[in-house]
Amino acid sequence: MRIYNFEEEAESVNVDEIYMKEAFKLAQKAYEEDEVPIGAVIVSQGKIIGKGYNLTERLNDVTAHAEMQAFTAAANFLGGKYLKDCTLYVTVEPCVMCAGASYWTQISRIVYGAKDEKRGYASVNPKIMHPKTLITSGIMEAECSELMKRFFKSKR
Ligand SMILES: [Zn+2]
Repeated sequence: MRIYNFEEEAESVNVDEIYMKEAFKLAQKAYEEDEVPIGAVIVSQGKIIGKGYNLTERLNDVTAHAEMQAFTAAANFLGGKYLKDCTLYVTVEPCVMCAGASYWTQISRIVYGAKDEKRGYASVNPKIMHPKTLITSGIMEAECSELMKRFFKSKR
């Protein structure tokens, strides 16, 4: 008989928040460096194996999104290009480029904070995501979206 375990459920939500907080710290770092404030971490077996934040200004490279940095770092850590059994935590919904890159990594799960109605993959082309990649959204949504709003407001 399977007993529904509420405690376990609560715990799994907590774990997502713990790692999203780490991604959020990186987003704040990006903000301080005058980059679009998005941060990402990749977790494997309870350990952060890759981190990144948006570096498009510093590197003068439109592809230098937080997720791309994190994918490269995680692949270097693992010594292989596939990120099976890994979870990406990113403060904002991935764009189609990053969703496309995540497809190639075959990552198991993606957890994101704020939705991006304009540039997010889901409103552009949800099919770009690997069918086996599980998606969770809305973790620390308010904080993640507030940081983005604050950034773009300061740019006006
Ligand atoms: Zn992206």
